[in-house]
Amino acid sequence: MFTLDTHVHSCLSPCAELEMHPAAIIAAARAAALDGIALCDHNAAGNVGAVMRAGRRAGVWVVAGMEITSAEEAHVQALLPDEAAARELEARVQAALPGQNDPAAFGLQVLADEDQTVLGYDEHLLSGATTWTLEEVVAQVHQAGGLAVGAHVDRESFGIIGQLGLVPPGLELDALEVSAQTSLPKARRTFGAGQTLLCSSDAHQPGGVGRGKTFFWMQAPTFPELRLALGGRDGRAVLGGGRPMEDLSLHLLDIAQNAVEAGARRIAIEVREDEAADTLVLQVADDGRGMSPDAVKRAQDPFFTTRTTRRVGLGLALFSEAARATGGAVTVESREGQGTTVRGTFGHGHLDRQPLGDLESTLLVLIAGNPGVQVTYRRQARGRTFELDSRQLEQSLGEPLTSPRGLAALRAALREGERRFSEDMDDEPQEERDASGDD
Ligand SMILES: [Zn+2]
Ligand SMILES: [Zn+2]
Repeated sequence: MFTLDTHVHSCLSPCAELEMHPAAIIAAARAAALDGIALCDHNAAGNVGAVMRAGRRAGVWVVAGMEITSAEEAHVQALLPDEAAARELEARVQAALPGQNDPAAFGLQVLADEDQTVLGYDEHLLSGATTWTLEEVVAQVHQAGGLAVGAHVDRESFGIIGQLGLVPPGLELDALEVSAQTSLPKARRTFGAGQTLLCSSDAHQPGGVGRGKTFFWMQAPTFPELRLALGGRDGRAVLGGGRPMEDLSLHLLDIAQNAVEAGARRIAIEVREDEAADTLVLQVADDGRGMSPDAVKRAQDPFFTTRTTRRVGLGLALFSEAARATGGAVTVESREGQGTTVRGTFGHGHLDRQPLGDLESTLLVLIAGNPGVQVTYRRQARGRTFELDSRQLEQSLGEPLTSPRGLAALRAALREGERRFSEDMDDEPQEERDASGDD
C-alpha cells in the first residue's frame, strides 16, 4: 500500500511560494509520512526532473506531472510515465499557451535544481489558459502515455464542474480529484460511487503537502501500477483517502495502526453517535502489548514521541486536542501484556467537531494492510447498527480479503453498511470553510 499526495506545486507555479523548491517539497512529503507525490505545476514541467532527483535521494516517489489549463479554464492534471514524457507534453502545452509572464503581476516562475540553486525562469504565461479544449487536453495527455485527472472538481473555480457545470459525457478522464475542502463520502454522493476519486492537497506551500492524501493498493511505486490502480484492474485499487488534519476517520486509522505496531492480533473499532446525549464516541480496543501508566501519559503529550515508524494521522496528542475542543475527552486504558483501549468522546453537534471523514477508507486500509489481524467494526447511530468482522467475512468468502475478489467484497460490505448512515454523514461542520488552494 502506498500513500500519495497526487497534486503538489513547486516554485515554478506563479501562485506557489518561493520556498516550494524541490528539496523543500520532498522534506515536506517526508514530514507528512507520504510514500510519494505527483508534481503538477501549471502548464509546465521544468522542475519535474529536479523534484524526482530530490525524491530519489530521500526515498520519496515522485510522479512526473503537470496541471494543464484548458481553453474553458478548467484544470486537468496529467500524471505521466517519466520526465521525458512530461517535457515533451510541456513543449506541446507551451506552444498552445499564449502570452508572457509578468512577474510583478502574477509571481515568479522559478526553475530550480535539487540543491536550491535557481537555474532560471519560465517566461510563458503559466497562469493563463491554453487554446486546447478540454477534450483536446485529455487526448494530448493520453497521447503522451499519461493519465488525465479532473482537478479539484469540488471547487467553484478552475474545476471542470465549476467551469462547465458538469463533466462532459464521454470525456475520458481516468479519475476525478477532490480537494481538501470535501470529504470523500460527500464526494462519492456528489460525483458517483463508481468514480475513481483521488484526495490531494493542491499544495502551494510546504505546510500544505499531504493535507489531502490517497491510499493506493499497488505492488510497487511505479507508473504502470498507478495506471492499474486508477483503473481498478488486476487487483490494484484506489482504497480511499482523506484529510489527515481534519478527518476523524484518519485519526482512528492512526490509532489502529499503533495497535498493529503494539503486536495486536485483534482490533475492535467502534463508532457510536448518540444524538440524544449529543456525543460521538470513537473507540479502538486492541490485545497488543499495552503500555505502562507512564507511557500512557507520554503518549498524550504532544511534545513527546518515541515514534520512528510512519504514521497516517496525527497521533494521540492531537486526537485528544480535537476531542477537548468539542467539550469531550480522550481516555486511554492500558495494561501491560493485555492491551489498550483508546476512547475519544466528542460533542456531536459542537461547531468545532471535525467531520468523521471516510470510515470505508480507514477500514479498507487497516484490514487489507494487515491480513494477520482480526478487525471487528461496529457502527451505531440513530438506533441503527452495522457490524463487520474481517475474519468472518474472509471465512464466508473462502479467500483472503487482499485478493481482488476479497477486496471488492470488503469494499461492498463496508459501503452497504455505511449507506445506512448516509444521512448522518451530511453533518460536516467544516464543509463551508473558505476555499483555499490555487488561484
Ligand atoms: Zn488547479
Ligand atoms: Zn493545482
